[in-house]
Amino acid sequence: MAPSRSPLNRQSIAAAMTELLGSHAIETDDEQLKAASVDRFRKYTAVHGIYDGPIPAAIVYPSSTADVAAILRFAEENLVNVVPRTGRTATEGGLETVVEDSLVVDGSRMNAILSIDSVDMMATVQCGVGLQELEDLLRAQGLTTGHSPQSKPLAQLGGLVATRSIGQFSTLYGGIEDMVVGLEAVFPGGQVTRIKNVPRRAAGPDIRHIVIGSEGALCFITEVTVKLFRYRPENNRYFGFLVQDFGNGIDALRELITAGYRPSVCRVYSPEDARQHFAGFYQGKNVVVFVAEGPKGIVEATAEAIEEVFAGRPHQRVDSGLIQHWFENLNWGQDKIDAEQAAMLEHAHLGYTTEVSVNWSQVSGLFDAVMARIRGEFPRAADLTMLGAHSSHSYQTGTNLYFVYDYTINCSPREEIEVYHKPLNAIIVTEALRLGGSMVHHHGVGKYRTPWVKQEHGSAYYLLSTLKHAFDPHGVMNAGTIFPLDPG
Ligand SMILES: Cc1cc2nc3c(=O)[nH]c(=O)nc-3n(C[C@H](O)[C@H](O)[C@H](O)COP(=O)(O)OP(=O)(O)OC[C@H]3O[C@@H](n4cnc5c(N)ncnc54)[C@H](O)[C@@H]3O)c2cc1C
Repeated sequence: MAPSRSPLNRQSIAAAMTELLGSHAIETDDEQLKAASVDRFRKYTAVHGIYDGPIPAAIVYPSSTADVAAILRFAEENLVNVVPRTGRTATEGGLETVVEDSLVVDGSRMNAILSIDSVDMMATVQCGVGLQELEDLLRAQGLTTGHSPQSKPLAQLGGLVATRSIGQFSTLYGGIEDMVVGLEAVFPGGQVTRIKNVPRRAAGPDIRHIVIGSEGALCFITEVTVKLFRYRPENNRYFGFLVQDFGNGIDALRELITAGYRPSVCRVYSPEDARQHFAGFYQGKNVVVFVAEGPKGIVEATAEAIEEVFAGRPHQRVDSGLIQHWFENLNWGQDKIDAEQAAMLEHAHLGYTTEVSVNWSQVSGLFDAVMARIRGEFPRAADLTMLGAHSSHSYQTGTNLYFVYDYTINCSPREEIEVYHKPLNAIIVTEALRLGGSMVHHHGVGKYRTPWVKQEHGSAYYLLSTLKHAFDPHGVMNAGTIFPLDPG
């Protein structure tokens, strides 16, 4: 939490925005402002109507790049903290308005699909285009972005790029960083920057990466161009296996991936995690899941390799129809969020996740260490109703582990984050760092992993902090996100 550095009070900030963009573009309703002060990191307190942090001065809805430039110029001149947002599915506090009288800049009305080019295989959209809407349109034309995060029904392109998001088909298509061809962003002071769309270039460092993953802490993304691929669902093949040992499942992924195969989906669920997805058939075992997709010949070769990897391992086969059915119902739209909120109000019970990554040689060690530390040292271990993990995104050199934990809350709603979520998150993050991994695989640093950001980057933190000083010298972009509020 930080005081405002602006000479303007909240009423003057809202009035200035109304003058700049018109009253249709400004929201100052109290309930909306409270909801805009948090994201899903505080989903439990929010559902109980508890908003302890600073409440923003206004939410502003730009409708063009010029509007965004005008807002950022005003914000820098008047030292007003800006929190960009689009789909509002952030999970790590990236949307929290920790500075008093912040401006939330919501890009969701910038929602035009500008072009779909099936010759150069790219689509250009404004930041507020929902991924689901874009995908639906593309698939009807036999195309796809290949991006399919679980939040696809809600997340929008600006936020997806800003968080370095990754989708369920990542082993084949990569993360968003592999998909973005070019983009447009507005920097503090109103500087508009467009990075052109070329297949590759060697004209200096790849400047797209200054923007991708910047979490609203450097600039506001206004337009994105992503690659397109052919959509061929008729070729998809689904596979499921039960294995006794988590490490053995991970080893199967490693063998397949390092041999050069790229099934689009490639996952291992620990038994505790598998219980919530595959209760009907997991039999208390680890579940390994694959989807092979793409041109027929590639799918067949991948399928053959999957069979070979499992031929040499003790396993039980899962009917592929069950895996396909599970997979087709995995995404989270507003209906699941509403159901979760109702359940949170009814029962003092909650689930969270922390996702990290490590090299292949450290995966089993990380899994075992986290399980042992949480069960052994977490003072509220008896309140855990589920503790498990899955690997869902694999690479030539390693994979991610996505830890999942549910607990019954035996404290006041206000204390929940300090008593449960933060200590559990801290154990997972510190174990990943201890084993040489990354403390965050895809949800972003937000505001809650900043205590470890210097440890994450080591001597390379110099590069990251220099970007912040260079592009946001007055510190008006999403203060407290990626970079600690108090740099120490
Ligand atoms: C149920 C659920 C499932 C999820 N599944 C996945 C998953 O499979 N893979 C994954 O990677 N993530 C997942 N997430 C996390 C989240 O959905 C993604 O990180 C997504 O990319 C956020 O997009 P958004 O449009 O909702 O952004 P928001 O929540 O609005 O914002 C996210 C961050 O980006 C910044 N930001 C937003 N828009 C802009 C902009 N135009 N310019 C600059 N900065 C901006 C914000 O300040 C914030 O820090 C999931 C979240 C939920 C709730």
